[in-house]
Amino acid sequence: MLAQLSPPLRARTTVVLEKWQGFLVKVGARVDEAVAEADVGLDELIAAHSTDPGPLGAAFSALQARFRGLQTKVSEAWEKIDGELDAVRDDAEGNDAALLSRLWAQLSRSRRDWLFDLDLRYERLTIRKEADLARALYQQSERERGEPVNCHHCGAPLRVETWWQSSNVVCSSCKVVNSVSPGPGIAYFYGGNGAHALVRERSQDWVYAQLHAERAYKALRVPTEEDFQRYVGAVRAMYTAYYQTMAALNPAFSGDPNALIEAKMSHYAHYDSGADKKARAANGVMLQLAMAGDRVGLGAHLRAEKLDLGECLYAAAEREQEGAIDALLELQYAADGDGEPKGAWLAERRRELEQWLAGRG
Ligand SMILES: [Zn+2]
Repeated sequence: MLAQLSPPLRARTTVVLEKWQGFLVKVGARVDEAVAEADVGLDELIAAHSTDPGPLGAAFSALQARFRGLQTKVSEAWEKIDGELDAVRDDAEGNDAALLSRLWAQLSRSRRDWLFDLDLRYERLTIRKEADLARALYQQSERERGEPVNCHHCGAPLRVETWWQSSNVVCSSCKVVNSVSPGPGIAYFYGGNGAHALVRERSQDWVYAQLHAERAYKALRVPTEEDFQRYVGAVRAMYTAYYQTMAALNPAFSGDPNALIEAKMSHYAHYDSGADKKARAANGVMLQLAMAGDRVGLGAHLRAEKLDLGECLYAAAEREQEGAIDALLELQYAADGDGEPKGAWLAERRRELEQWLAGRG
């Protein structure tokens, strides 16, 4: 794309591009550094303080602040690059202007990909290190479980059923009631964050799938109900994997997985307005009619649902549904063509749509 620019603009654009790429390499190295340091530093803290949440909590907060700082740096650098590219675009005309707007969109997408990858790296790192901490806690809890518990009155060994929490145990020899409390390893693993961290690590693939699904959904300008259900389905799969794994692995977990999953999902139903749902359903039917080439049904549907033809075209374009674009353009020509030659009119509208698609940052 760069090679197609006219020479004076090409030279100026190259400078901006190289600056941006150089910046990403530099900040990428800072990320690698942060990950490597966190790995070593957190291992040391885990070895020294596995049952003290204070120092580890502080270390995780510091790590999060460091990642946020790197994200801010990328956003600030992008603002500068954006401004410099704008200055070049101000001097561009015709083909140069179109090329530069596509180039801008490419860079903007690369920035968003970069930030998303950074989110994923942070998520992976914290999931792994929190699970490492949980493994250290688990080992300690197993040692504590191996220690015999004796009656404080007669010294006979006690049988502790709910060993993961405090309980009153009646001695089978002398019938005295003993108040028994778990050790710190058991308390932190089963009562604190330990079991959660191991279950989260086991179900992490669903966490990443959910992040991808959310990103894909939010990138759509004109979502359909099907798109929304795909996104919400990924969220449900994540919670299902989490609670089912928790119920299978953790004897101290007493919740009902299905009720807990539904409680999490109610958040999505609660914030979803009826108007949004209706609009998504109307968009879905519109796309189906357009893809089927049913122009009569499509025209009736657009009127009944008061859909904007321009938005419908964006919906078809962002899904690269050529047949649907054709059907919608035919309707648009019938409405706005004003007797202009049809072939040229359609070709011009298609070019505009392609430019819109390529220019989306
Ligand atoms: Zn006893």
